[in-house]
Amino acid sequence: MDGTGCIFCRIASGQMAADIVAEDDLVVAFRDLSAQAPTHILLIPRQHLRSAAELTEEHGPMLGRLFATAARLALDEGVARDGFRVVTNSGPAAGQSVDHLHFHLLGGRSFSWPPG
Ligand code: 5GP
Ligand code: ZN
Repeated sequence: MDGTGCIFCRIASGQMAADIVAEDDLVVAFRDLSAQAPTHILLIPRQHLRSAAELTEEHGPMLGRLFATAARLALDEGVARDGFRVVTNSGPAAGQSVDHLHFHLLGGRSFSWPPG
């Protein structure tokens, strides 16, 4: 699938509005429409990948950028010191609802473990 009709591709290309907090040539970060924590940001590659199941070693530079962006945003949001969570849901059993790879950056409250 090339991403035609994908809502996160539409956000990355500017065709659809989102509260974007960071973007560069490889990744885009924007606030989740339905925040589950005081800080809830989604980080996506500009490239359409369906989930983490499609990742290979060649995605290393994009993933490095994405996690460095997550770390910087955690600092900016003031959640780095107390702690935060970065998580990706891959596939139906994990609850993935948008089929464009994305990482949730969650912070500003405590999280239980293991996840439900
Ligand atoms: P998943 O359930 O696939 O792990 O996460 C998808 C996330 O995307 C959900 O947390 C949902 O609230 C968010 N989401 C779905 N559609 C939109 C949208 O159009 N804009 C934004 N900003 N977030 C969205
Ligand atoms: Zn997409």
